Amino acid sequence: MAIKCGAHNCVHNDNHGNCYAGVVNVRGAHAVTTDETMCKSFADQDLRADAEFAMEFNAAPKKAGVTNIKCGACQCKHNEKHKCHAHDVQINEVTASCETFEQ
Ligand code: SF4
Ligand code: SF4
Repeated sequence: MAIKCGAHNCVHNDNHGNCYAGVVNVRGAHAVTTDETMCKSFADQDLRADAEFAMEFNAAPKKAGVTNIKCGACQCKHNEKHKCHAHDVQINEVTASCETFEQ
């Protein structure tokens, strides 16, 4: 039940594909393809320079898993009441879309 995220430029990414966001919000209410989904929790790593943000980030260094995902892509077969039931979730390197999406 792991998240593997290629978006290493996200502040929540440890540069090894692991996500440390407390909650991972994936959007795509009308999505019927992967490209129409996106991780809304993506935040550019430049935010690390923001002292307040860095403090909050470092205060909760817990690796996120699939159970931490809230997902609006209701047409995905892994979605049940905005929870993700995929075994593993892959987030795209370039667009932070969900590559595990299946209609
Ligand atoms: S899953 Fe989303 S919040 Fe987590 S590291 Fe990837 S882009 Fe960032
Ligand atoms: S696999 Fe489906 S339900 Fe899970 S995060 Fe991706 S789009 Fe949402």
